[in-house]
Amino acid sequence: MSDCIFCKIVAGAIPCRKVYEDEDVLAFHDIHPVAPVHFMIVPKLHVASLDTCDTGHQALLGKILLLAPRLAREQGLTDGFRTIINTGRGGGQEVFHLHVHVIGGGNPRPM
Ligand code: 5GP
Ligand code: ZN
Repeated sequence: MSDCIFCKIVAGAIPCRKVYEDEDVLAFHDIHPVAPVHFMIVPKLHVASLDTCDTGHQALLGKILLLAPRLAREQGLTDGFRTIINTGRGGGQEVFHLHVHVIGGGNPRPM
């Protein structure tokens, strides 16, 4: 996906403030944080959104979700955090490469 900004970040063509990386995923700080800690976990594989996932992505999705609390703790969020997955234009998604926002350290508005 040559025009995908997160694929470019995964490839190292666009710099990021890296939180974590392994063979399957990359986590990096959001360029426009909405809280003191705000990073994203993305699969290295280009997947447009949760809406384009199928059972073949099950292990990858599980891995990303299980990484969230571990990375949140490592970023100092010992009291909890919020995860957000925006899906599709109606869900407020702006970058069409699947990502899980991990947000914390502020005063979250009730949802
Ligand atoms: P979405 O609305 O698609 O769930 O969230 C996309 C997020 O990507 C936004 O919070 C936005 O600030 C972030 N973002 C967009 N472009 C870049 C970039 O080039 N680098 C980083 N680190 N974050 C970005
Ligand atoms: Zn991509």
